[in-house]
Formats: sequence, structure tokens, C-alpha cells
Amino acid sequence: MGKENYYQELKRFSKGLGVDLFGVADISQAKEGFALTAELSEKLKRAVSLGVRLSEGVLEEIQGAPNKLYFHHYRTANSFLDQVAFKVAHHIQKKGFLALAIPASQILDWQKQSAHLSHKKVGVLAGLGWIGRNNLLVNKALGSQFRLATVLTDMPLKADRISKEDCGSCRLCIEVCPAGAIKDDPAQFDHLSCFEKLKEFQAKRLADQYICGVCVKACCGSGEE
Ligand code: SF4
Ligand code: SF4
Repeated sequence: MGKENYYQELKRFSKGLGVDLFGVADISQAKEGFALTAELSEKLKRAVSLGVRLSEGVLEEIQGAPNKLYFHHYRTANSFLDQVAFKVAHHIQKKGFLALAIPASQILDWQKQSAHLSHKKVGVLAGLGWIGRNNLLVNKALGSQFRLATVLTDMPLKADRISKEDCGSCRLCIEVCPAGAIKDDPAQFDHLSCFEKLKEFQAKRLADQYICGVCVKACCGSGEE
């Protein structure tokens, strides 16, 4: 079977599990920061990026700060993605290839905000979108209103092309950010102010994790897939 066929078959399988976004990244030259052993990392040349859309209704209820409904939804979406990634990895393995599912939300070091890898960077390489002013992956159709998981593999999949788009003239998230962390230039995103605000929300027990959702709500995309 050729790369295109492997790609299309895996895409069909993944979409059948309920994912809204599917893309494949060539990671052969992009493994910097992966928290994996060099031996395993060396073998994995492709990353499958899987995304599921968040609920418009739940996001609608966010009024300047996270709430219990969003926190539950966030965890449910992550748990759904972990199940999907597990099934995709299992499917790849049954076909005789190596596969490693990376959890949707598992932080290894909260201060450094480090994980096994960055799902959003993989998403960029997989052509799903660009890093927006809000420092999140932005997809043309869904904005930032989705969650991601990744499956690494040595399956010979066709790789997608990186998107050439960006936020353009949109500035919707800048005015709503309660930390003033979002700037005109995406490279100037103020990570520290954002993280301090997330800590403040968590200390107030608005959510039992460092999440916010305000800039996710603002970034709604075109809606056209
Ligand atoms: S997560 Fe919240 S505090 Fe951080 S940039 Fe987005 S809106 Fe601002
Ligand atoms: S709301 Fe607009 S400016 Fe902000 S990240 Fe999304 S597309 Fe970019």
C-alpha cells in the first residue's frame, strides 16, 4: 500500500471515531523538545494530529472567566481524545507498525509548562492551522474551539502541507483577554501574565486546572469546513 492509501484509510478510520480534524505531520526533522527516549524517537517519522470540536453552548456560558461547566467539558473532550488516540494507535499497531498515543492533556512540569510534545506545534506541521495571537492553534473553520491529541508512528503516511494562513486583520481575542496577554504580534504573547491569570482562576476554584477559555470563546473561525 502507498503513502496516500495509508493516509486515506487512517483518515476514514479516525473520522469514523468522531474526530473533526485530521492531519499528518512529517516530524523526521522536528523532534526537538520531545520527551521520549532517543531510540524510540528515532523510529517515529510521522505524527497524526487529531482534533475534536468544543461545544458552542458550553463556550457561550463563559463570561470573562472559566466555570465548572467548561472545566468538565474540557476534561471530557480530553478523555474522548485519549480514547480516540488509543484506538488509532491500536489500529496502526494491528497493521504491523509502531504507534504511540500522546495524552491530550498531561503536563510533565507545570512551571515549565512542558509535556511529551506540543500538540499545537504538531497541528501546525500537520497543516491544521497556525499559531494565532492567542498563542493557540487556530484552524480556519473552527478557530481555536477544539482540543487535540497526537499519535506518533512509523507508518509510511503521506504528510500534509503547512498552512500559509494567519490571523490577518482579526483582533477579537486581544480585547477580551483578562490578563492583557495577547498582543498584536503573536511573538509578543505574554506567557507569564497569562499563566498568572490561570493561577488566579485556579486559586478561586473556578476550575481545578490551569485553564481559562476566554480567548477560545473569542476565536470561533469561519464555521465553513
Ligand atoms: S487563556 Fe485567558 S488569560 Fe490566557 S491569553 Fe487566553 S484569555 Fe488571556
Ligand atoms: S480571535 Fe482572531 S486574532 Fe485571536 S487568535 Fe483567533 S483569529 Fe487570531
